[in-house]
Amino acid sequence: MVNIYHENDGDLNVLKGKTIAIVGYGNQGRAQALNLRDSGLNVIVGNRDDDYKSIAQEDEFETFSIQEAVKEADVVFILIPDEIMQDVFESSIKPNLTENDAIVFASGYNVGFDLLNLPENIDILLLAPRMIGVGVREKYLDGEGFFSFIAVHQDHSNNALQIILALSKGVGTLKKGAIEVTFKMEAELDLFNEQGFGPAFGRVLLSAIHTLIDAGYPPEAVLVEMYMSGEMSYTYQAMAKVGLVKQVNFHSQTSQYGSMSRGIRFRKLPLKPKMEEILEEIQSGEFTKEWEKSLTKLKFKLIKFFATKQKINRIENEVRESLGLKEYDVYEGEPPTEEEMKELKEISEELKVFEKYYK
Ligand code: NDP
Repeated sequence: MVNIYHENDGDLNVLKGKTIAIVGYGNQGRAQALNLRDSGLNVIVGNRDDDYKSIAQEDEFETFSIQEAVKEADVVFILIPDEIMQDVFESSIKPNLTENDAIVFASGYNVGFDLLNLPENIDILLLAPRMIGVGVREKYLDGEGFFSFIAVHQDHSNNALQIILALSKGVGTLKKGAIEVTFKMEAELDLFNEQGFGPAFGRVLLSAIHTLIDAGYPPEAVLVEMYMSGEMSYTYQAMAKVGLVKQVNFHSQTSQYGSMSRGIRFRKLPLKPKMEEILEEIQSGEFTKEWEKSLTKLKFKLIKFFATKQKINRIENEVRESLGLKEYDVYEGEPPTEEEMKELKEISEELKVFEKYYK
């Protein structure tokens, strides 16, 4: 049985007299810092000297360098991108921790896959919202709360569960529910959503778009129908509110009959075996090992370059212009340099497959 914690399970008094440092004032950092402070807790911010730090100052937080903030605090939230966490943890966080401090992650990745060299005399906790930063703040303010995954990886104080429950209450997640998992489980679920579900969904969406455009429908109408209207997000919200299947009741009778009667034709798509293969790679650590290699970072650069050159990007740009939609300055994908291409030579056959796939 999984443990699910609610409002009455957390006691803010557990954090009385403790200073909480938020390291990283980005998406999650800002939202969680504001929520914890509004819950009456003593919060400071540690960030590099730049725009994020200025925002924290405008929000009237006492700000420090990362090193100083960790020194000042009893509880340290590490809310920086997962990719740089190993370096920042070793250089700025770990040397400034003291016995009985607690560190709190919002993602299970680095601890779950053993990528950090963790001290033994502290508590190691997870509070991973299933919600983007803006939502973490909004759902706190409107009192609804949001789901999170929480975990205790190391309980040095013998009070770690009470500490993470108090922090969960302060951040506002207990209003909706905090589900107890392990760090590895959180990371695996997150990676699977990104690798096992996301690309399959993207493939289905692209197939539908190309089927309609090839059949002669105007791209403007096709993209608006398929996703640009934003209607899909309401369907997702309805799934969360009333149920995956029951949400069909929000659609017309024709829509319900059409999707239910035609659904059966897609039953033989070999999705589950592929998804199981991807899950196995995640669970065994094979994916993490691959991603941690420096050659993979170069491979990623090239794949991203191919992907952002896909036909759909051109179609989308034209549609956005014709619909008068705001242009977003999103990174388009730079090709690797000549030097980098030389390094990639040893995997050139594999890369050709990607190039062909994204054509
Ligand atoms: P952001 O990218 O929004 O946060 C960036 C923060 O990290 C900024 O304060 C930035 O400050 C700091 N930072 C970036 N690079 C460095 C560096 N080299 N050295 C020191 N500080 C640095 O991150 P998120 O809020 O998206 O993610 C934080 C954690 O939350 C991650 O573990 C993520 O997995 C998790 N999470 C994120 C969710 C989301 O919706 N985004 C949802 C749930 C969990 P500056 O660049 O100014 O130094």
